[in-house]
Amino acid sequence: MIHIDMLCEAQRVLGGFAFPENIRGYKIEMSKVLRINMSDLGHKWETLPKKYETLAGRAFTSAVLHNEVDPTCHPLREKNKFVISPGLLAGTMAPSSGRLSVGGKSPLTGGIKEANAGGLTATRLGYLDLRGVIIEGAPPVETKDWYSIYIGKDKCEVKKTNDYAGIGLYELIGKIWKDYPGKPGIIGCGIVGQRLHKGAGVFGNNVENTDPGRYAGRGGLGAVLGSKRIVAIISDASGGSRPEAKDKDRFEKGRKAFKDALDNHALTGRLNNEKGEPYGALKNYGTNVLQNILNEAGALPARGFRTGRFEDAAKISGEAVHDLIDKTRKKFGDKAEGKYGHACHPGCVIACSNVVPYEKTGKAQVSPLEYETAWALGTNLGIGVLHDVAEMNRICNDLGLDTIEAGNAIAMFMESGLIDFGDGPAAIELLKKGYHPESAKGALVCSGALTAGETLGVSRIPVVKGQALPAYDPRPIRGIGVTYATTTMGADHTAGYTIAAEIVGIKGKVTDPRSIDKAELSRTFQATTAYIDSTGYCLFIAFCVLDDDSGFNGMLDTVNGFLGKDIDIGEYGMAILKNERAFNKGAGFTAKDDRLPEFFYTEPLPPHNVVFDVSDEEIDAVFKDM
Ligand code: SF4
Repeated sequence: MIHIDMLCEAQRVLGGFAFPENIRGYKIEMSKVLRINMSDLGHKWETLPKKYETLAGRAFTSAVLHNEVDPTCHPLREKNKFVISPGLLAGTMAPSSGRLSVGGKSPLTGGIKEANAGGLTATRLGYLDLRGVIIEGAPPVETKDWYSIYIGKDKCEVKKTNDYAGIGLYELIGKIWKDYPGKPGIIGCGIVGQRLHKGAGVFGNNVENTDPGRYAGRGGLGAVLGSKRIVAIISDASGGSRPEAKDKDRFEKGRKAFKDALDNHALTGRLNNEKGEPYGALKNYGTNVLQNILNEAGALPARGFRTGRFEDAAKISGEAVHDLIDKTRKKFGDKAEGKYGHACHPGCVIACSNVVPYEKTGKAQVSPLEYETAWALGTNLGIGVLHDVAEMNRICNDLGLDTIEAGNAIAMFMESGLIDFGDGPAAIELLKKGYHPESAKGALVCSGALTAGETLGVSRIPVVKGQALPAYDPRPIRGIGVTYATTTMGADHTAGYTIAAEIVGIKGKVTDPRSIDKAELSRTFQATTAYIDSTGYCLFIAFCVLDDDSGFNGMLDTVNGFLGKDIDIGEYGMAILKNERAFNKGAGFTAKDDRLPEFFYTEPLPPHNVVFDVSDEEIDAVFKDM
């Protein structure tokens, strides 16, 4: 366990938070940083500053934003920056370590934002020894041109590519792979980001380049890219090489132990057991295995957070997707395109991703359908038809729209009575309006739940700091509510996933979800998560490392072996949170922003009929010294 008292005495260095003494001063190979200025379309290569030598992923994006961006700036003007950083281990042989962080001041929350995703870009940048790409400035507002950025070995080109703009993302990624046959990583923004709507996510291509579904979805960062007139960033690792650990033996020992632990854990493990039966829950059913679990717990927010159970949860669950894939495989044989156990980036051994097929043809409909999306576009809207939910997922992926924000925005239309809860075809039609710039309804669906709800006269708007809540109701599960309230990111389950302790359990022990003393639990999870988000590891490794000491130690050995020096998880994570809290304070956030919407305190949630009754004092205790 990591406690707040583990923090070393903090000191400020060059406007940033100093990372622990035992890792400062340690010499590691100096990676590069690429700085691109969209005001003059120029770029320069920089040596990674010494103060950033152990920072990667979220630690890097948040440090750069804290040190270089005025927190009061307009998020969609030239003073904001869009920062990209592969996790520390991206490109290495460490399992499930190819996550990419993107950061900027969020147009949705007005605060600091980091979002991360799989795809190909992190490993490509790792091979190029690039710790970060910082995109600053913006072309003059009158400009009508769109750009893409090509990053290769010691090469960067900012190109005018107007033909990449204004089209769906399925078409765009096909076009780019034709223009760049070397299988590059791609990230960028779709139509929604190009129109500067706050629901815009940053897409990435999947490994097969069949779907733009790898989303750093939250916080409207796609609109930050759009404001800089960038549609796509293409990373080509040709001529690059696999990053090497400083202490190779320790890294390799840790890698093997960690992979072994992941393979054998019931959640993160291999596809089948010795009898050929399904074994690893994530590999078989994806994250959407949580649909039935949360429903059973009475904490699955259905129909705009009115009840904690959904009668059709099973029909859109991970188990239902698994059955559909098996059925279409049987029917269409080699032509079936549905998959479970699909990896979102090279080297992910958990492989929780999937490809959902059309039942009638076996062809791919969308990849992936995750729990959050199945909830936001299904359960949350009272829609229990798998095809309709997957279709909405596909439209969001094509538009470049965050599915959680989109689902909550559509729920606002349902709350206002413009369409009915449960009406899948009407929800699909509403979402399709997002393609049409002249449609006011389309613009609202793409602008997030807060804008949609306020415009439509809704008083129950499930947002914190302007960002819509995800798929766990905070009334029966108080720790996740404390995380929603206090995270620097706006409502975000991934920022401190207490569900692992409160629902799944750690080492066979479940922390009572109903207890109201959750400040320390949330703080610990938030600090640990900030560390994981910096390593390149996927958050889902947590299920294994929290449960299995050999997995935990193996994971630590990979990180410390890579750096050649020990770092402390708690100190490292808290240093990141400190930078983020300071940014948000500068942007004008106060304790009153660390609160859930009023209706969670006043409307009891069936079936447990409880409200969120954690005190303000307990919430404020999470970061009382920050
Ligand atoms: S566990 Fe799932 S989300 Fe995480 S890296 Fe692997 S495929 Fe991607």
